[in-house]
Amino acid sequence: MSETVFAAPPGMPSAPTADDAGRAVLAAQELTRFYSVNQGFMRPQATVKALNGVSFTLAAGRTLAVVGESGCGKSTLARVLTLIEAPTSGRLMVDATETTAASAGDLAPLRTRIQMVFQNPYASLNPRKTVGQALDEPLAINTSASRAERGETIAAMMRTVGLRPEHVARYPHMFSGGQRQRVAIARAMILSPAIVVADEPVSALDVSIQAQILNLFMDLQDRYATSYVFVSHNLAVVEHVADDVMVMYLGRAVEHGPKAAVFGKPLHPYTKALMSATPAIKAAERRVKIPLIGELPSPLRPPPGCAFAPRCPYAIDRCREEVPTLRKLDGRLVACHRVEDIEG
Ligand code: SF4
Repeated sequence: MSETVFAAPPGMPSAPTADDAGRAVLAAQELTRFYSVNQGFMRPQATVKALNGVSFTLAAGRTLAVVGESGCGKSTLARVLTLIEAPTSGRLMVDATETTAASAGDLAPLRTRIQMVFQNPYASLNPRKTVGQALDEPLAINTSASRAERGETIAAMMRTVGLRPEHVARYPHMFSGGQRQRVAIARAMILSPAIVVADEPVSALDVSIQAQILNLFMDLQDRYATSYVFVSHNLAVVEHVADDVMVMYLGRAVEHGPKAAVFGKPLHPYTKALMSATPAIKAAERRVKIPLIGELPSPLRPPPGCAFAPRCPYAIDRCREEVPTLRKLDGRLVACHRVEDIEG
């Protein structure tokens, strides 16, 4: 039996193709997202800088992995990129369209071009809707496809993500965790988006299922040249899927470059410490281990200078006074005053 391959539904632009390779589909320039926080009676409002000047470009068919501990700003970045939240400042281009000055009417079609897969497939699917209804809803709202055409599109997508088309009448609770995440991926892919932002998409799944879901993401990317922003705290997962890696610490990127450069020879002490804490990362095992001591500082009271200084074994007075900016070094960007001393 020949396989029915999912294709863009009528009324939607087709998914990127190999010809689009290299074309930037997502570009962020100095993106910030600040929140005002009430500190209590008679106390002034505080500002939490959850995202503090993040820049990158993402080409068609590529994967940028965003890595860091819980609270580093990576989930805030995911919400800003998917237009769920507006940035406080900075620029965001989605599929060659500037979003930051766009009207609500202009943003609506763009939202179909960038989709999100959440950590928890249990929470991201409506328990009162069948899988068929969950997949039909975006098609009915955003495309001109007839009911029959939508049914064919849904059946093809079910097969594409490794589910049986006849299970469209089932409710989410009737699937396993891995199958539910396949449904969530199908829902994200059904409008042929140019970009999928996946926020810890396998961390709620059994380890035995994680590799299957990661392989599904990669198969879909090979087939449709979809670009991914893959948010994860797990470096073993990142090593599996990433083309480029951005390591974040307290709202800022501290190291950013091709996976081979960052994993082959991490330069920032925080990247080194993260890799030391992940036994599966072979490159890090060969290097000096840096223990990751203490907690991420409160974003309400970030330390002056380099935010990593209170945990960094190489910190000197300059680090506690001057915020290091990203600079080009050894094939990547790194924000640390002392890389040359440490590596020297
Ligand atoms: Fe450590 Fe200083 Fe580099 Fe920050 S700037 S990572 S404190 S050496």
